[in-house]
Amino acid sequence: MIESGYRLFICILSGLVLLEASPLLPPEKDLVLHTGDGNIELSKADSDYRLPNTSRPLHYVIKLNPHLVENNFTFTGETTITLEVLQATNTITIHSKEQTISESRTLLSNYANTTNYTVTHSYDTERDFLTLTTSVTLIAGNYSLSLYYTGDLRDDMIGFYKSSYSNSTGDTIWIATSKFEPGFARYAFPCYDEPALKATVDIWLKRESSQHCLANTPILTEYEDSDDGKTWTVFETTPLISTYLVAFIASDFAGITTDDNTFGVWARSSAIATAQYAFDFGIESLESLENYTGIAYYNYALDKMDQIAIPDFSSGAMENWGLVTYRERYLLYEDGVSTTSDKQNIATVISHEFTHQWFGNLVSPYWWTYLWLNEGFATYFEYFITAEIETDWRLEEQFVVAEIHADAFAADGLGTSHAMNADVETISEIRAIFDSISYGKAGSVIRMMEHMITNSVFKAGLTNYLNTNSFDYGTSDRLWEAIQEAVDANGQSLNVKEVMDTWVTQAGFPVVTVTRDYDENTAVLGQERFFLRDKSLYDSAVYWWVPINWATASDPDYSVTTPTTWIPGNESITIQSPSSSDWILLNKQQTGFYRVNYDTTNWDLLNSFLSSANYTQISPINRAQLIDDALNLARGGYLDYATALNVTKYLAQETDYIPWYSALTGFTYINRLLAQTDSYDNFKTYLTSLLANALETFGYEELDADEHVHKFLRNNVLTWSCRLELDACVEFAKEKLLSWLVDNDETAITPNLKSVVYCTGIRNANSTIWNLMWNKYLATDLSSEQIRILRGLGCSEDTDILNNYMALATTSGSGIRSQDSSTAFQSVYTYGSANNVEPALDYIINNLEAIIEYYGGTSTVTTLLSGIGLRITTSAQLEKLENFATAQSTLLGTAASTGISNAQNNLAWIESYEATISSWLEEAVADSSSSNVGISSALLTLCLVCLLNFYQ
Ligand SMILES: [Zn+2]
Repeated sequence: MIESGYRLFICILSGLVLLEASPLLPPEKDLVLHTGDGNIELSKADSDYRLPNTSRPLHYVIKLNPHLVENNFTFTGETTITLEVLQATNTITIHSKEQTISESRTLLSNYANTTNYTVTHSYDTERDFLTLTTSVTLIAGNYSLSLYYTGDLRDDMIGFYKSSYSNSTGDTIWIATSKFEPGFARYAFPCYDEPALKATVDIWLKRESSQHCLANTPILTEYEDSDDGKTWTVFETTPLISTYLVAFIASDFAGITTDDNTFGVWARSSAIATAQYAFDFGIESLESLENYTGIAYYNYALDKMDQIAIPDFSSGAMENWGLVTYRERYLLYEDGVSTTSDKQNIATVISHEFTHQWFGNLVSPYWWTYLWLNEGFATYFEYFITAEIETDWRLEEQFVVAEIHADAFAADGLGTSHAMNADVETISEIRAIFDSISYGKAGSVIRMMEHMITNSVFKAGLTNYLNTNSFDYGTSDRLWEAIQEAVDANGQSLNVKEVMDTWVTQAGFPVVTVTRDYDENTAVLGQERFFLRDKSLYDSAVYWWVPINWATASDPDYSVTTPTTWIPGNESITIQSPSSSDWILLNKQQTGFYRVNYDTTNWDLLNSFLSSANYTQISPINRAQLIDDALNLARGGYLDYATALNVTKYLAQETDYIPWYSALTGFTYINRLLAQTDSYDNFKTYLTSLLANALETFGYEELDADEHVHKFLRNNVLTWSCRLELDACVEFAKEKLLSWLVDNDETAITPNLKSVVYCTGIRNANSTIWNLMWNKYLATDLSSEQIRILRGLGCSEDTDILNNYMALATTSGSGIRSQDSSTAFQSVYTYGSANNVEPALDYIINNLEAIIEYYGGTSTVTTLLSGIGLRITTSAQLEKLENFATAQSTLLGTAASTGISNAQNNLAWIESYEATISSWLEEAVADSSSSNVGISSALLTLCLVCLLNFYQ
């Protein structure tokens, strides 16, 4: 699935805790993705959370009757499981959670239904086990078990739950829907709730006459129940399916469908017109995946595919087989309102979920240890399948900067990271690995494997894997076997398991060190584990099979990405390097999942080439790589900051989105940490000077001829120019915001520039303007636009306004949905300036009890304090947080500890590096003072007087 909730793109709550997500605008990885933060200790559970292997399911018949009635949001259920007892036993253990089972009606019989067995029920609420014990021993064979029960329609967006929306007349309309990954099917029906325990399923769902029902398969029949006048919808039997992929929905939604109903998109009827793009793109995406895998979706697996936008949804989207569920903003697109970034998100999320129909649904993980086999392939193909349809979006290059640099390296560089094959047992452990390792790192490692063996061999290997394991399960070993077969068939000499196991069974990744001998024209390459911080605390003697290739000044070819040689573990290797005046650059197109550090001379050679007119001879990905490596090597203590910052100087001539993405990700961190220091003015001057050429090139207005990523780059350049308080930019934003809010000019702001205009314009606006924008939020029906406005509203720097906003964010019925509450709260310190960190902390200090009550616990408080901690840069702020944690230790528990350690890390970085950076900046600013920042003076002639009334 695509995590959403707290952070960055696909299942429950995401990794702001872990990642310092950059507020770069296109792909909103920092807002959409994962739920897990990866920070939960993966301690082995005390007891075995796995079901015993004495029986397995063959078939389920699930009949559910949801009651969508005020004061009675419940359901009644009846589930009959055909099961096989594998060895003689007198107990059958299955999963069941928060169901009231009518024990007297439970029926266990042999399959022929000639013998009924008396059973006693026992419940293990820790492991969610229901154990039925028989007085006589059950011999191996098939049995039938029927259970009758009731449960609550939940309001926390998991299990079988209720969601609602207001219709055109203001009435609240309820729907019943489901979300079961990873272990929530057990709320809706008693079952063997483990991914490898597949069975076929018949679903019966009852609905009101105003509703219709959807499930994984097409409708078989419908009939009215004379007892209550409601209608039973009976669905066709599924193929063998894991319980977490079962889904069913009763709603009054409208649909766009093909004539034969094999493909449909569903949403609230007032929003269905915005589902057309998802409909059109979805058909193409599914076809592309069929072509790529060589395995048909229709007929082979399921006879239909529906996509549906759910008003309240905990993840970004969920890949239920044949019935994919989405947050509205990942499915609904409105021309003239939605942005290019919204469109890309919708396309990539659809491709992600459709990839799962093969990787996850057809071949499921044996256990959650192998979650990465789902999410890694889905992350990989969300870019590479979408790229086959949207060919000019440069998604192959976006993958590198968004998934490798901003996401996977950031997470996997921490000493607390975990291996892709993760040791997990409990539901909370499983939820924690829906994180940057299972998504971004796994996708990156999969891409590395593709380039090791070439795309055609990779593709053949994947088809082997899917064909061999369909309607069954996958493990990393099963994947290696299938790939090995393709590698052997192609005559390549490579032990896939030996190489790849070093990448999936170990946490972290290497930094390859290049030490050249400039007399002998050789270079020695060695490796050690890279740590983003605290490297002295960890063991760096960890080794991988590292694929090596390189370009040089005299041979700047980036097209061949297969390895020229390997570093085979802890032994260093020696390669021929170019003549002493040429640079060498390792890891072409960043296909290898590792960083590279050079000796100072080679860094200097690279820097002088970047500053030359020929710099584009180094590919955009490798320019991004040099920036990302340099800044992060410096952060980890592997390279001095002066050398690293020298790499950024060439950006003064850079106009490509890809290197700028990684540069701005790196500058986001430095910007945050220097914000309260004496160096900050010089930092602003330096970065503004780097941006000047890109700003001049792309300007303030969108052009029809703009390339896809140019729209992203303009937005990023303007966002930073405004954040750095470039007058022309700030006035531009204020003027646009007033045209929209005061003059009611709905076309005043180009959609792609809304985020920068909203945030900059609202920063110093008074409450009148802020309230006008709040009213726009309440009036808009498009979810992605609502999110954009919520983020802008947090940019105010007026404490009263912010306090009011944070109260709205944490009050039921305020107009902000609970799924969007943390987005609103986080916007105060994420999108607002450094000045907003203390008001956010103060608000939590002053309203802790109410906030905990609103969120139903401290997990969101942990996320909020963690995000605030990432932005704490003074000892006074840290002291305030620590005192709060001590004073409120009873309520908080450990909820403040990540925030405190984030803040401590910041102060340690400032202590270590600020002086060096300060003197470097002083020199750099002095050097560039002659080349002044270009500002379009025409923009300064805007009507400034009329702005004064609205800004403080
Ligand atoms: Zn996914």
